[in-house]
Amino acid sequence: MARYTGPVCRLCRREGQKLFLKGKRCSTEKCAIERRNYPPGQHGLARARRRRLSDYAVQLREKQKVRRIYGLHEAQFRNVFSQAARDQGITGDNLIVALETRLDNIVYRLGFAPSRKAARQLVRHRHILVEGRTVDIPSYRVKPGVEISVKPSSWEMPVIKEAVEARGGDGTLNWLTADYKRMSGKMLEKPSRADIPLAVQEQLIVELYSK
Ligand code: SF4
Repeated sequence: MARYTGPVCRLCRREGQKLFLKGKRCSTEKCAIERRNYPPGQHGLARARRRRLSDYAVQLREKQKVRRIYGLHEAQFRNVFSQAARDQGITGDNLIVALETRLDNIVYRLGFAPSRKAARQLVRHRHILVEGRTVDIPSYRVKPGVEISVKPSSWEMPVIKEAVEARGGDGTLNWLTADYKRMSGKMLEKPSRADIPLAVQEQLIVELYSK
């Protein structure tokens, strides 16, 4: 299936909330959700007015929302879910932690890219090192203690410089730390669900896939 290449603000409007798909630019640009908070398309407004979603539709929308935030195809998302269901612990928590520890997401969280989409591009274009070696697989699962860095020859790239400047020197979550002098960062420990700032109800996704 081809990757969605249309306007990303349409995806936020479809889900009815800000998904911050443009990263930092979402706070500077006029947000489409603030101007037109109803689904896109000719009948979007009419549909929103008579909207009463079934349980299935609510679960589906939650799954689509998470899939869009992390920019995954359905098949990729399903694979992550299947692995999360096989792992020990709560499936919904496992799912979010698995998505959050992808290399592209870690690059974004460390502040080396303005959005997850841009982070994926940096990884694919071989600008990112894992323990000093190039890794160009966005889905690579990062483990605690492993050093993620920007290739020295890429430090001056405008997209990276601007993302780091926008972060204002603060690249830390309680499970992640960044060193912008060395353009590197680390996951200090595997995050728990409570550590991940993501307002979604992953239990709805578990219910959807359990049907
Ligand atoms: Fe979504 Fe608003 Fe960002 Fe567009 S500007 S991607 S609608 S949050």
